[in-house]
Amino acid sequence: MELTGVGVGRGVAVGPILRMPDPLPEPAEGPRDSTRTEAEEFARVQSAIEAVAADYNARGEKAGGEAKEVLEAAALMAQDPTLLDDVRNRVGSGSTAERAVFDAFRQFQDMLIGLGGYMAERATDLGDVAQRIIANLSGVPAPGVPESDTPFILVAPDLAPADTALLDLTKVLALVTSQGGPTSHTAILARSKSIPAIVGVTGALELTDGTMIVADAASGRVTVDPSDEVVAEAERRIAERKAQADAPITDGALADGTKVPLLANLGSPAEAANAVQLGAEGVGLFRTEFLFLDAKSAPTVESQQASYTELLSHFPGKKVVVRALDAGADKPLSFLNDAHEENPALGLRGLRALRASEQILRDQLTALANAQAATEADLWVMAPMVADAEETEYFVELGRELGLKTVGVMAEVPSLAVLADQVFTAADFVSIGTNDLTQYTLAADRMLGSVAAYQDPWHPAVLRLVRMLGDAGALAGKPVGICGEAAADPQLAVVLVGLGATTLSMTPAALADVRAELATVTLDQAKAKAAAAVAATTAAGAREAAAAL
Ligand code: PEP
Ligand code: MG
Repeated sequence: MELTGVGVGRGVAVGPILRMPDPLPEPAEGPRDSTRTEAEEFARVQSAIEAVAADYNARGEKAGGEAKEVLEAAALMAQDPTLLDDVRNRVGSGSTAERAVFDAFRQFQDMLIGLGGYMAERATDLGDVAQRIIANLSGVPAPGVPESDTPFILVAPDLAPADTALLDLTKVLALVTSQGGPTSHTAILARSKSIPAIVGVTGALELTDGTMIVADAASGRVTVDPSDEVVAEAERRIAERKAQADAPITDGALADGTKVPLLANLGSPAEAANAVQLGAEGVGLFRTEFLFLDAKSAPTVESQQASYTELLSHFPGKKVVVRALDAGADKPLSFLNDAHEENPALGLRGLRALRASEQILRDQLTALANAQAATEADLWVMAPMVADAEETEYFVELGRELGLKTVGVMAEVPSLAVLADQVFTAADFVSIGTNDLTQYTLAADRMLGSVAAYQDPWHPAVLRLVRMLGDAGALAGKPVGICGEAAADPQLAVVLVGLGATTLSMTPAALADVRAELATVTLDQAKAKAAAAVAATTAAGAREAAAAL
């Protein structure tokens, strides 16, 4: 039997599946077992909580690192005295232990969700704690991520960040989900960890634990109970990919020799060495705001200069594109914009916020110019969330005044693509941020699961904007890079090159797959795939049209 979905990456895996268990049913409201007293019922809760907390701590001890912190925090949540008091009161009013835990935790979760942001995310974690306590009380296995001493392919509806923090990724051969799209959390995780994944596989949840499958991300196919030949072919490809990964790394190029430099997206200088090892030919996006997410006041010139110099020193003679602070929406920086906004994605963010606090921007550009002078790297600097040529001119002029050599802008707001010809008269280069460009083109909040299906950079509307930028860049003789998640999708990377992208920047773990895919097509073939994709009417149609050639 074969199931199909959307493959992430080009990997293939063979193994038995383990299913993420379904959540427990809601405990019945019904009356309590009359043979137990109130004190006995509450004692059941206490011993369940003790067992669950001990289990979290033991697993934390085993996992170590970041997972240990997450698990220990969950143990503390399980033992929260306020929650325990609430459970005691509910048992006192006649509730069963299971129902009392369910109601008390749900009330607390609702309150956290009401607070929004970081607090709301903790509600998911609290839900996991409640499920484990109820499972213990009911004598059924705990839901949540499966554990296994041997490697397996994880099958789930979709994975939440809280699930993946607890998952031993060294045991996971591949991820198969019934929901989610190519930009879901599962897909992003798979790309960053180089785990093959197939998302949106209808029928995946009907598979039972232990079933052998071959998950082929390159074709998006799941073969259930595969024949010996299918297994042998998959194993041959796994060995081939391993050999490829061990072979000396070449620069990014198409089959006809056209160069497509492959660059890294980084969030801290500490990530540079690994990127170089994976063959990054430079940096295509350094997200400076990641250095200062916890800062209460604007960073000084000196502290920034030290970070940028450290980053640049890893790339002598190589291109490093640094982005000015991108504050707002998913990355709030209180020192740039602390105001409450109804729609922060449409608010005072990116270059708009920098312009409103020009001294902070001047300090950052000065620190960058100093780092440029102190190192051998080829520093390019760009502004985020730029809308038009006037904003482009503002940023480029300021950058030049403060001593920067190469100054450009990100294309994330559709208006910039529409005005690309005007933008290129001022900018030295443009780098397309497909994450935000998709969000704004399809009017779909990139943080919101309910509209995740719209967040697909394969959408022909997004591809046409990329083509406008590619055409304008070619006419002006200036580079057009891609630095959004789209560049990490090997098939889409080919289409983007066909639309005029001159460099691709991505999470370093994706470099190998993109490099391998580019080497299979000529520029003419990439252009033909691009033409087929932009002529499609839907994202899925574009994906199919490009694959069919
Ligand atoms: C983007 O929007 O595509 C991008 C690269 O920037 P970020 O993901 O940091 O918003
Ligand atoms: Mg962005």
